[in-house]
Amino acid sequence: MGKTSKDKRDIYYRLAKEEGWRARSAFKLLQINEEYNIFNGVVRAVDLCAAPGSWSQVLSKNLRKNTENANDVKIVAVDLQAMAALPGVKQIQGDITKLSTANEIIQEFEGQKADLVVCDGAPDVTGLHDIDEYVQSQLLLAALNITTHVLKTGGIFVAKIFRGKDVTLLYSQLKQFFEFVTVTKPRSSRNSSIEAFVVCQNYNPPPGYVPTMVNPLLDHKYCDFNQFTGINRFIVPFNACGDINAYDSDTSYPLILEGQESYEYREPVQGPINPPYKDVLNKTKNL
Ligand code: SAM
Repeated sequence: MGKTSKDKRDIYYRLAKEEGWRARSAFKLLQINEEYNIFNGVVRAVDLCAAPGSWSQVLSKNLRKNTENANDVKIVAVDLQAMAALPGVKQIQGDITKLSTANEIIQEFEGQKADLVVCDGAPDVTGLHDIDEYVQSQLLLAALNITTHVLKTGGIFVAKIFRGKDVTLLYSQLKQFFEFVTVTKPRSSRNSSIEAFVVCQNYNPPPGYVPTMVNPLLDHKYCDFNQFTGINRFIVPFNACGDINAYDSDTSYPLILEGQESYEYREPVQGPINPPYKDVLNKTKNL
């Protein structure tokens, strides 16, 4: 792919570089916030599966500017991959499905609770939809487990999901922990992707619930999802967010946009620190 073809094909990829975001995903969190005001009053936040760090950038910029003393803001970012430092963001390199990582996050908060937990986790997709959905749901469950340890009552949890065939089970179970559960599709998320985000508001775990690292959602022996009644059959509202006039993420735009004089290529804001293809590049250089 040439240096300009991705810029042309993907408007959010290009805008991210122009505005200094490390990844186009920044717009997804910004658009979710536009709709749900999730940053309001947030001082402590956790960003799960954070690398290369555009959501942490969004959190750092917004939370620090909303608070009287920017130093009060605490953001803990976790990922398998290392990521370049950001102001007010403490980084943990680890696997969110591991108890040890959950414990590290809990320790970072020193007994205080987070106001917001976000998770944009995505496994390497295999292209086999059932497997991809399953692995994605495992990441979400790990994120929820960690959330039940660190989120304050009334707090907010936002996480990426794949809208597959079993997704209603997930909604029903999230509804056990949060008063409001909504699914949202930001304008910057491609229509062609089954990705969406759950916005879970007002954390209120069932009475007597003790946080564990056991999967609260899958450790049930349900064989017929249709047997659910009452709260388990709750239908989650779905809406699209982001300004209707905002760029469409599936459309190709001309390189010179309205209001601009010329097209100027920009390097990505933050390249991967240690990408798997680095060895190959080095070997090719030495040929
Ligand atoms: N929100 C990020 C941003 O805005 O820059 C992008 C996140 S990227 C789509 C998904 C991330 O999930 C990858 O960096 C990957 O390393 C991370 N990830 C996948 N599985 C993980 C796991 N088990 N534990 C921690 N991170 C994981």
